[in-house]
Amino acid sequence: MTEAAGTIERLADQGHLIGEGWSAGDSAGRYEHHDPNTGQLQAAVPLAGAKEVDAAVTAAAAASAGWRAMPLEERAAILHRLADLLVEHDDTSAALNARDNGTPISTMRPGLYAAGWVRYYAGWVDKLTGTVVPISGGGLDYVLPEPYGVIGAIVPWNGPMMGMGQKVAPALAAGNTVVAKPPEIAPFGALRFAELALDAGLPPGVLNVVTGGADAGQALVRDPRVGKVSFTGGRLTAREVMIGAAETLKPLALELGGKSANIVFADADLDVAASLAVLFGVGLLSGQGCALPTRLYVQDDVYDEVVQRLIAQAESLAVGDPSDPATFMGPVVHERACERILGTIERAKSEGSGRLLTGGERLGGDLASGYYVSPTIFGDVEHGSDLATNEIFGPVLSVLRFSTEEEVVAKANDSDFGLGAYLHTRDASRVHRVAAALQAGMVIANGLPGMSPGAPFGGYKQSGFGREGGKWGIEEFVQPKNVFIAG
Ligand code: NAD
Repeated sequence: MTEAAGTIERLADQGHLIGEGWSAGDSAGRYEHHDPNTGQLQAAVPLAGAKEVDAAVTAAAAASAGWRAMPLEERAAILHRLADLLVEHDDTSAALNARDNGTPISTMRPGLYAAGWVRYYAGWVDKLTGTVVPISGGGLDYVLPEPYGVIGAIVPWNGPMMGMGQKVAPALAAGNTVVAKPPEIAPFGALRFAELALDAGLPPGVLNVVTGGADAGQALVRDPRVGKVSFTGGRLTAREVMIGAAETLKPLALELGGKSANIVFADADLDVAASLAVLFGVGLLSGQGCALPTRLYVQDDVYDEVVQRLIAQAESLAVGDPSDPATFMGPVVHERACERILGTIERAKSEGSGRLLTGGERLGGDLASGYYVSPTIFGDVEHGSDLATNEIFGPVLSVLRFSTEEEVVAKANDSDFGLGAYLHTRDASRVHRVAAALQAGMVIANGLPGMSPGAPFGGYKQSGFGREGGKWGIEEFVQPKNVFIAG
């Protein structure tokens, strides 16, 4: 048995982290977790329901006062130790991630990534200052950033350990305790993060992790003791989350989906633009990323040339076992995802809303038992079609033509989403002009998003609200308290 397989078995047996220890409570049943590379059953994951969530929130509430009162240097030291452990065990975490959700070890280093966020927010522990409000007359008017108490963190399956870094680290740094809920389809990165947090000396109850689906999510969102919920997922689920949160008028931060436009102007460096368009619009995470550039606009003059390059690049992507360091693109997360993506491709083919340029099928041969969809590109996609409008969350790139800057900005913005937007041009003034006009929380010119822990990440429109990263990310987890003392 490989080390990663052993870790998965151990984590599934242990179950949830609730207060002082692990519990394999399965009041919502069990989930059969399959290796995305081979399709083989590798664990029966216990699923939390209302009962386990109630216990986890109780533990988090009980730990709240102690965590808040802990000397700041101790709180920061624990987070720094956690970052050290995440770095130390990065190889294991990458191997685990490959079996958790199929992400190749060559493309994502979840331990290093999460460590960067944990270390960044450890630095905020003693820098989250208040404000004195200038007033007329005597007295003192000041504002304190106060933690909410217990935070609910619904972390995504496409980067469970990374999601813990993005949500849990700032929540803890700000003095909150946390109940995190990874989904059953890829819970192991979040559970491993929790193990390392305990090893780092995090007191029991400060971080609790319950694996589960909709039942656990709703229980967390509706619990009146949870002060705020930070949710990552799809927009339809987000509506359910909002309905649940409405019961107690609970504040939310929502990190939702996207259909990020990627605009290639004729003056761009076409080598860079075409290469990144495929590596990150098709290959990375097999297209299962919220902010990936999946809607590609290419200017008329260079359309044919770019399309030739896209096809060549897609057909040379190294697809295969995510545990192999030579692999760039792995399988999708599970059988249902594979079938859903292939269904979208078949519908697009029969509707004729785009021309299939390459891919479009399930991979066979050595990969037949895994959840592999071939790198797929549709050209001449119609604006307004399903392919151009909706998130596919698979290795499928939609390519559209445009002729003018004004036209492409209007088309890029004609979307319910507004998470990321990308452009390629050598014209510096166009970069600024188009970046200003694009309706997205993040605009990237001539490259890739850095996903720096210091920068705000989040969406416009139906891509959500609230931010992860930087001062914006920690401010999500405090509320301002105004104190006025009469003079
Ligand atoms: P999903 O909406 O189906 O599930 C998200 C989470 O919500 C899971 O933990 C799930 O268990 C939970 N859930 C399901 N029903 C619920 C309910 N009724 N109440 C409360 N919780 C419930 O999303 P998914 O398909 O697992 O993930 C893909 C989506 O997530 C895509 O839209 C993607 O773009 C988005 N995403 C966004 C980001 C970001 O940071 N913006 C990152 C990753 C993924």
